Amino acid sequence: MLKEFEYVIKLQKIDNQLLEINNMKGDLPQIVDTLQQEIKTLEKELESERKREKEIVLEITDFKGKTQDDNVHLERYQDQLYLVTSNKEYDALSSEIDTMKQDIDKSEYSILELSEEIDKLKESVKSKDLTHQDKVKELDIRKTELEKTNNKTKSVKAKLQKERTNIVKSIPLRYFREYNRIAKAKEGVAIVPIQQVFIEKKDKKGNIEYIPAKVSCSGCHKIVPPQKVVEIRSGNKLNRCEFCGRLLYWDDKISEIKSNNNEEEIF
Ligand SMILES: [Zn+2]
Repeated sequence: MLKEFEYVIKLQKIDNQLLEINNMKGDLPQIVDTLQQEIKTLEKELESERKREKEIVLEITDFKGKTQDDNVHLERYQDQLYLVTSNKEYDALSSEIDTMKQDIDKSEYSILELSEEIDKLKESVKSKDLTHQDKVKELDIRKTELEKTNNKTKSVKAKLQKERTNIVKSIPLRYFREYNRIAKAKEGVAIVPIQQVFIEKKDKKGNIEYIPAKVSCSGCHKIVPPQKVVEIRSGNKLNRCEFCGRLLYWDDKISEIKSNNNEEEIF
């Protein structure tokens, strides 16, 4: 087998172990990420709701102050009403009083509306605050879990990555590019061993004989044309699966499967 080809296979074996390590983390990195996003959003919403709460308190204070002033004016106008001497003066004063009353009504209505708004905001802040606390606690737990897994695998991972860097140096760029292209499309698995099944047959004398029955790609399990096996075994050029596009190689340990099952079970 070509040396470069052997390096590509070694690279895949290292990457398979790295993939396994990554799988050990399961959904954890994703969960941590989502929690962090959710907490951020909650914090933004809480900040803006608390800001609005403060604004409303100020607005209500303003309206209350204005109503107080208006009531003082109103009382003064009403007192003046007894002192007027002409109809014209009376009408003018009455109109002032009406306007003042309307203003007071408007202010009181606004205070009512703002009070309702602030009540709703307080409820929302309270519930968001609780959710926020829960999420922060959960994030803490999940982060610790993730750290534990990372620590457990840290040294193994570092060793593998070092090996990987060394192997990559020995692989010609065009092979490495090809490997990366397929790995990206096939969840990290670019090169797989073929599997050749041999069926046990007994001749008339009772001697056991193994007949090659089926060759398949161990990546997608589709059939590989038997005439390709010799070429793949020699490992002198890159062969790929016609179905999944992965590179194929012969592995002495896993490629040959001897079976005493009958043909129906195999096909
Ligand atoms: Zn395949």
